[in-house]
Formats: sequence, C-alpha cells, structure tokens
Amino acid sequence: MGSLLLDTIKKSFGAVDVIKGVDLSVADGEFCVFVGPSGCGKSTLLRIIAGLEDQTSGHLAIDGKRMDAVPPAKRGIAMVFQSYALYPHLDVRRNMGLALEQEGVSKPEIAARVTQAAAMLRLDPLLSRRPAELSGGQRQRVAIGRAIVRQPSLFLFDEPLSNLDAALRVGTRIEIAKLHRDLGATMIYVTHDQVEAMTLADRIVVFNGGRIEQVGKPMDLYHRPANLFVAGFIGSPT
Ligand code: ADP
Ligand code: MG
Repeated sequence: MGSLLLDTIKKSFGAVDVIKGVDLSVADGEFCVFVGPSGCGKSTLLRIIAGLEDQTSGHLAIDGKRMDAVPPAKRGIAMVFQSYALYPHLDVRRNMGLALEQEGVSKPEIAARVTQAAAMLRLDPLLSRRPAELSGGQRQRVAIGRAIVRQPSLFLFDEPLSNLDAALRVGTRIEIAKLHRDLGATMIYVTHDQVEAMTLADRIVVFNGGRIEQVGKPMDLYHRPANLFVAGFIGSPT
C-alpha cells in the first residue's frame, strides 16, 4: 500500500507555469527523495499529492485509485513540514492525537496509537510537556509522531530537518530511515541536503524549473548524471 502514480501533472499560478508536466511512478514502500533548486516546484507538487492544492491538469493515483475527487483526509497520506506547526497550548500527547480526535477515532484507540508512536520516537517521557518545553529536535519528532499515528500508507516530508542543527539532523535522519524500515510505508522526502538524499533514498528525483531532469538510484545519479545540471546538483555540495 502507498504506491503513487503522477501522470502529466501541470500547475500554473495565474500566468506562471510552476509544474510543467511531471510523470513519476513511486512503488509501494519506496523511499523517494525530491531534490532541486529553491522555487522549482517541489513543495507545490507535494501539496498536490496531499490534495492541499489542485493540479491545473493531469492525474494522480494512489494504489491505482484516481485521487482527483478524493479530499486530503481520505488519501491515506500524512505530511511533515519544515515548521512543526504544533499547538502551543496542548501537550505532546494531545498534539499527536488531535487529528485522530477530529476523525472520530475512539479514545482507547488514540491512546494506543500515541503510546506506540511515542515509543518508536522515544517521546514517552515527554508526553505531558507542551511544545515550549521541548527542544527543536523533540518538536520535530512530535510532528513526525503526529503523522505516524494516522497510519498513512504514504508519508510526505517537506524539508523536515532544515530547522535543526547539524548534529540533530544526523540523529533525526537515522530515525527516519529506521521508521521507514519499521513501517514499510512509502515515503516522499524533499531535501536540499545531499547527504540526506544519498543516504535515505531508494531513488532520487532531480527537479529543475517544474520538470524532472533525472530519476535514479543515488549511486547511478552520482556516477552517471544525465547532464551538467544533475552533476552539479548531486556531485557537489550545495
Ligand atoms: P520549492 O518547494 O521547490 O522551493 P515551490 O513549490 O514552493 O518551490 O514554489 C514553486 C514556484 O511556485 C515558486 O516560484 C513560488 O513562488 C510559486 N508559488 C508557490 N505557491 C504559490 C501560490 N500559492 N501562488 C503563487 N505562486 C506560488
Ligand atoms: Mg519548498
């Protein structure tokens, strides 16, 4: 569960073409990393996949099912952003369970899922704290926990570690890799960090100006970039 198909996705804002025809197929359980310069449309594409934004044309399917008329909450997707967007007045436990409360999931079921996710992310001792009482790394783990409890088949991460300092980035990256192994869910992960891309990805998708330049396994892109743009992006530090 969690395969994704993008078929000629285009998106314009007014007269500006931001996504210019993207075709991509992501397999069940794959870890797919999106890279590309700022403004090339990565976040817009994630928002289209999540249903937070409508494409101008083209189709997308999850597990073979067309998503065009399916609202965000029913797509089996959870998104983790760069900004954690936690509720400051709620403790960690309620922040993690809130979406489930809103979906009408029973209290014991919410408690069970929050406990399980907290254990995976080593958040157990922090469940009664409020966001202000957490470090940046802990807040980001709560944001990831909030996604996990929804048991999505597809996770979308939009530069989730870019607000963390270097040491925390490494730790959280390893945690995300472990999560991927443990959950077996499909993950699409946007980053501008090459180390993250090279270490996390089953495949890397290199975007440029609303189009895909190249898709491939990290070492294939590294050793056989299709063009100078890809070579510059994967081959040298940004
Ligand atoms: P990336 O995530 O790759 O940095 P984005 O998807 O955020 O790129 O943005 C791609 C382009 O679309 C940018 O030029 C941005 O200014 C534009 N854009 C994004 N969202 C909107 C919007 N709601 N209205 C108008 N333009 C937008
Ligand atoms: Mg972005």
